[in-house]
Amino acid sequence: MERTLVIVKPDGVQRSLVSSILGRLEIRGLKLVGLKFMRVTPELAQRHYAVHREKPFFGELVAFITSSPVAVAAFEGPNVVAVVRSIVGATNPAASAPGTIRGDLALDVLHNLIHASDAPDTAQAELALWFQPDELVTWQRDTDHWIAAES
Ligand code: UDP
Ligand code: MG
Repeated sequence: MERTLVIVKPDGVQRSLVSSILGRLEIRGLKLVGLKFMRVTPELAQRHYAVHREKPFFGELVAFITSSPVAVAAFEGPNVVAVVRSIVGATNPAASAPGTIRGDLALDVLHNLIHASDAPDTAQAELALWFQPDELVTWQRDTDHWIAAES
């Protein structure tokens, strides 16, 4: 079963949207398998966003993600990477469809509330970066068989 990394960014925490944002993923049927609240060090931020190192917004992105605590979650489910990205919406909230997290709750490309892994291989690398192995919990949810045939 696929897993993905989700981060409620500092704007989501400051705007008291942690439960609303994670709740949208939870009520879709995705299973929570990891959860923590933490400050992000510049080192972790730079490793997480290494792919954007050369981009003009890299400096402000690292400053933003380290500016205030974040909520970090791991979710599991069938096609969870693509499903979460579709719930999150386009990177720039100005182009995010209504009904998505960014399309309903955000306006600005930097302050777009949430990070979600963009592919199964990046999800695995990001989960390893943000969670120790024993912080990810494999568990049987009593409703699993009502939600997905392969559960
Ligand atoms: N970002 C930005 N300006 C841009 C593009 C991206 O500030 O022109 C920020 C934004 O917070 C985004 C993050 O950089 O979420 C990572 O960019 P990416 O293209 O990976 O977007 P995502 O995968 O988060 O949709
Ligand atoms: Mg990305």
